Amino acid sequence: MSQLQFDGRAVIGGQRVAALNGATFQCISPVDGRVLTEVAQCGAADIDRAVGAARAAFDDKRWRGLPPAQRKRIMVRFADLLLQNADTLALTETMDMGKPVKYARAVDVNSASNCIRWYGEAVDKVYDEIAPTADTALALITREPVGVAGVVVPWNYPMIMAAWKIAPALAVGNSVVLKPSEKSPLTALRLADLALEAGIPDGVFNVVPGFGPEAGSPLALHMDVDCIAFTGSTRVGKQIHVMAGQSNLKRAWTELGGKSPNIVFADCPNLDRAVEAAVGSIFFNQGESCNAPSRLYVQDSIKEKFLEKALALVPAYTPANPTLPDTVMGALVDKTQMNTVLRYIESGKAEGAKLLAGGEQVLQSTGGCYVQPTVFDGVRGDMTIAREEIFGPVLSVLSFSDAAEVVRMANASVYGLQAGVWTSDLNKAHGVARALRAGTVHVNQYDEDDITVPFGGYKQSGVGRDKSLHAFDKYTETKTTWVRIDSPV
Ligand code: NAP
Ligand code: MG
Repeated sequence: MSQLQFDGRAVIGGQRVAALNGATFQCISPVDGRVLTEVAQCGAADIDRAVGAARAAFDDKRWRGLPPAQRKRIMVRFADLLLQNADTLALTETMDMGKPVKYARAVDVNSASNCIRWYGEAVDKVYDEIAPTADTALALITREPVGVAGVVVPWNYPMIMAAWKIAPALAVGNSVVLKPSEKSPLTALRLADLALEAGIPDGVFNVVPGFGPEAGSPLALHMDVDCIAFTGSTRVGKQIHVMAGQSNLKRAWTELGGKSPNIVFADCPNLDRAVEAAVGSIFFNQGESCNAPSRLYVQDSIKEKFLEKALALVPAYTPANPTLPDTVMGALVDKTQMNTVLRYIESGKAEGAKLLAGGEQVLQSTGGCYVQPTVFDGVRGDMTIAREEIFGPVLSVLSFSDAAEVVRMANASVYGLQAGVWTSDLNKAHGVARALRAGTVHVNQYDEDDITVPFGGYKQSGVGRDKSLHAFDKYTETKTTWVRIDSPV
């Protein structure tokens, strides 16, 4: 740890630079409260400078003008560099936002690298189209990069959230201006260094750290940004769409919050696996996952047995220092988030839910932000902890009697990101999966994940999809070119 050096300056036009007005903010570790470094506190003037650099790079075609196979080679080198720097990237992520280093290494670095490689490799394999029109004309349907893509991401998976957006955007030839969360800016800045080292030209990928209203808003409002890709809360996501409309009608894509229902029927094929997935998925990443199955619906007849097994697993998630190799539950991202989680726990108690496990802040003497894995039983659908996204290690358990009732309860949410169904009955599995209003439904598991599948939500969980070839839709315009053909023969 003592050898890790952090550079908090922005990356604009291929250079490390301070904010134009020299402002900085402290990057504080939730592991132990230490100040990791000062970070450039960029504002509208810095965003303007970054968008200018991105536009210049787009206009002179230094990146989009390269043959796709050449962009591919550079993207693959970029992905390789993440792996070559895996240990420092992982430790940086852990110090910056508190997740266990073992997962930062095995999940965050690997997934971000894999994502960059996958889009790089895809880009010389995707063909355009010719429409089946009459033979007096030729209609070409081509994809072109949208131009300058603004990207705003949250702090829960800083590298992965950034990679899901920058990889498809860069692969097809756009320039990017990324604003990471002020709570976790360090790995995004390192990604920009590595992109330059890989050969992505100056100005193509810029990273501008700063606070949401000061740096994020000017990006979403900028008249020379062609699309804004956002991951974060539904509250700010709504503002992103408003800012896009208020300015130049830039394309706005949003991956937002969730309150995902996980439904376990009495005929669940493997109760132990269901218990492990229910507990493991809500406590993974300290519960700071948009797709965390935070509403657990267990059919009445098996609830007691299910809870007994679940509670036996909870102590395994006792928080510990996330820089230690065996830790599975680390620190929440900062004091603000920790206090939000603790307030939700108080509201659960006050509204009559039954606290079965956890509920307390722990390890205070470390100066870090740690909360016990927490389980509430007897939760009703109208309670705050059943309706609002907590984004912390808090599981709300509800019960149900039949499929129709649980589908009604599960869909009674403003969110529609993911859902889970556990049953041995094929008809019930498919019927319930179809009835659930969610972008992803898991059947008899909750942790399958692959870059090849789309990720995103129904309803107020957002607009558009990350991952898979569908993500290219966000970062390309579709052009039709009609050519008249006067056949000489
Ligand atoms: P957030 O408060 O909405 O912040 C997200 C990003 O937006 C941060 O970079 C933030 O900057 C920036 N921001 C804040 N106010 C802004 C404004 N007025 N204009 C422009 N940008 C602004 O969300 P968060 O608390 O960081 O992240 C947690 C949320 O993300 C949860 O709701 C979670 O479900 C969601 N999430 C969704 C997905 C998905 O794929 N659906 C994935 C991960 C997370 P600062 O942090 O610097 O203020
Ligand atoms: Mg931080």
